[in-house]
Amino acid sequence: MQKCEIKLDTNLGKSRYQNSLDHGKKIEQVIPGGVDSPFRAFFEVGGQAIFFEKALGSKLYDIDKNIYIDYLGAWGPAILGHCPEDVVRACQETLALGPVFGAPHSLELEMAQCVIEACPGVEQIRFVSSGTEAVMSAIRLARGYSGREKIIMFEGGYHGHSDATLASSGHLSSSGIPGGSRTATLLATYNDLDSVRALFEQNKDQIGTIIVEPVSGSMGVVAPNKDFLPGLRTLCDRYNAVLIFDEVITGFRLARGGAQELYKVKADLTCFGKALGGGMPIGAYGGSKKIMQQLIPSGDVYQAGTFSGNPVTMAGGIATLALLADGEAYKRLEARSAQLIDGLAAQIAGKNWPLQLQRVGSMFSILFTDKPVMNYQDSLTIDHERFSVFFHELLDNGVYMPPSGVDAGCVSAAHSEGDIEETVAIMIAALHKVFGPEV
Ligand code: PLP
Repeated sequence: MQKCEIKLDTNLGKSRYQNSLDHGKKIEQVIPGGVDSPFRAFFEVGGQAIFFEKALGSKLYDIDKNIYIDYLGAWGPAILGHCPEDVVRACQETLALGPVFGAPHSLELEMAQCVIEACPGVEQIRFVSSGTEAVMSAIRLARGYSGREKIIMFEGGYHGHSDATLASSGHLSSSGIPGGSRTATLLATYNDLDSVRALFEQNKDQIGTIIVEPVSGSMGVVAPNKDFLPGLRTLCDRYNAVLIFDEVITGFRLARGGAQELYKVKADLTCFGKALGGGMPIGAYGGSKKIMQQLIPSGDVYQAGTFSGNPVTMAGGIATLALLADGEAYKRLEARSAQLIDGLAAQIAGKNWPLQLQRVGSMFSILFTDKPVMNYQDSLTIDHERFSVFFHELLDNGVYMPPSGVDAGCVSAAHSEGDIEETVAIMIAALHKVFGPEV
């Protein structure tokens, strides 16, 4: 994470955000940094985070009564927008019957069937409560299945906050991670098969797992080049390694069958989260029966969870998947996302601004750099100070983006044409502030 060092002339500190500022001072006394997850802080953009009181459809409402068109999408879950009626009703009705049993129930069966029907590579699935848990469990399963400890992940990738995937991710470092985790995680370069091949050659018979975001969402939205995902499949087959697709963002967002449907490459294990739960806390991982049967109690790889597959989350997920089933939501997501990014592209054409608009489906990035970002090293060219100015201009004018120059913005099926038109106008005005009238 890049800390913002610049002095910003923004409305933060003025009355528009007064209640948020007052809350901010108090919460820092009782919650470290004032946030339960570091991404929520305005660490990278400067200033203090805004407090919200509700989220409905395409909008966020803060405690100072400001309204924002939302492109954070709660970091991914809000694929249908906030509070879709059917999802809220299903959760409320289920809650009234008991939020957690600690024993099997029929909604787990129904939800598993829904996911398996949509995702051809998934024959069996386990539900957990976050993307981090899904990834952590899938990596343990892959290690147990392959009998090999070392894993490959990609520099600049994000797979949650477990030791294995934070160990050497490059951009997010942490103390407190055992040395063993660090040496067991090897870093390759996204979109570069030679870097993966080299690691297999240098670590003969030690690597049992590759984990990858099929579309990267945390170094800018970066699409895989044509050969990358098929090449990873081939390398995993050649070296007997388990290929894990981390579809925590892309799953059920890019298509019903996620990135695997879009790019026609099958992983051995797939991790889900975010959009799958319709806003309720969820994670899941699934794959072939042969691999999944290694999980306890049928196998010897341990994984558990008090709230795993809880009824309210399952009800939220089933209702969400039902709303996604006929494909109409995906058409809407594509139309609105194209309207946003093509609309911006049309207005910045010929301006010579060092700016990249990168989009896959409803995931998008506005990157302040003069060259396309294809991997982590490219993302280091991003000008975070310019992004900070852009971010605060948007905030002051009622558009909420992830407070980071690299994390994916998310369009939802609740965004209207009017929302997008307004957003394009606000973004273009903000870009003029960033770059000045002429560059
Ligand atoms: N994997 C990816 C690709 C993610 O983007 C995230 C979260 O942003 C995670 C895993 C971790 O999910 P969670 O925050 O639900 O633990």
